[in-house]
Amino acid sequence: MEDLQTIVNDIAKKYGSKDERGTVADYIPQLACVDPNQFGISIVTSEGQEYSAGDAEVPFSIQSISKVFALTLALQQEGAELWERVGREPSGDPFNSIVQLEHDHGVPRNPFINAGAIVVTDVLLTGSTSVEANARLLNFLRMVSEDENIDIDLAVAESETEHGYRNFALANFIRAYGNLNNEPADTLDVYFKNCSIAMSCQQLAHAGRFLVLDGQNGLTGDAITSSRTARRVNAMMLTCGHYDGSGEFAYRVGLPGKSGVGGGILCVAPGFASIACWSPGLNAIGNSHLATKALEELAARTGWSVFSNSIK
Ligand code: GLN
Repeated sequence: MEDLQTIVNDIAKKYGSKDERGTVADYIPQLACVDPNQFGISIVTSEGQEYSAGDAEVPFSIQSISKVFALTLALQQEGAELWERVGREPSGDPFNSIVQLEHDHGVPRNPFINAGAIVVTDVLLTGSTSVEANARLLNFLRMVSEDENIDIDLAVAESETEHGYRNFALANFIRAYGNLNNEPADTLDVYFKNCSIAMSCQQLAHAGRFLVLDGQNGLTGDAITSSRTARRVNAMMLTCGHYDGSGEFAYRVGLPGKSGVGGGILCVAPGFASIACWSPGLNAIGNSHLATKALEELAARTGWSVFSNSIK
């Protein structure tokens, strides 16, 4: 295989200077302030070696990438019972679709669309305070990325709360169907703060390493989660991680991935590496325009794919 540092350097140079960069999300006004000319990429291998290039140290809003870690915690806590409240099928609809929720009688199609993540958040909030629920996800992220400096960007959380009419509609709808235990505003407060956690590509790539290692902590060898849970989270990332662009991402990149409207994508090459790529401009579906393209090139050059075990 080509040297990984050469690959990330080439990719950061090429995609960092592209003219066509997509459009920064503006339905959360605070995200509209982010400079679209940034591009970062980090790879952390199964052995823990890191290869980074571009703006890999710049923290960005992880947004829906937080749903991967929230799902891990909820699956650990609830086991199979979680699936009574949220489905496991790709939605084929936008991430904030309301229409589908009525059709499915308040049981969201999967944990990575907003409606599903709101239910997962409700599961994590039940039996604890909102401060505890936020701290639980934040501490989990600090532990898996081995970095105590990760925090919530409260300006982003406030901005999303102020303009979160659609998420309020979803949460109220779910509550009306009896699939939310807490008040919509309380569950959403935790959800918005989880989405507003800021991390760099470097931190995120480290955080994804347990999904590369079948649930193990790469440093200690201890189980962060069971191999079964890790595999299932990866399966959900592959089938549902990019909303109605999930099939296209699986086709082009061939790896489990999860995007966020902050422009980040976390990608897992099981057994090989965790990869985080970030560029704030989004495509029409709400996935990072350049990070998607960059990951396609990275997968082609490394040969990493869940559909083959031949490495280049
Ligand atoms: N916080 C965002 C929202 O709820 C997350 C969406 C996303 O990243 N796709 O709209």
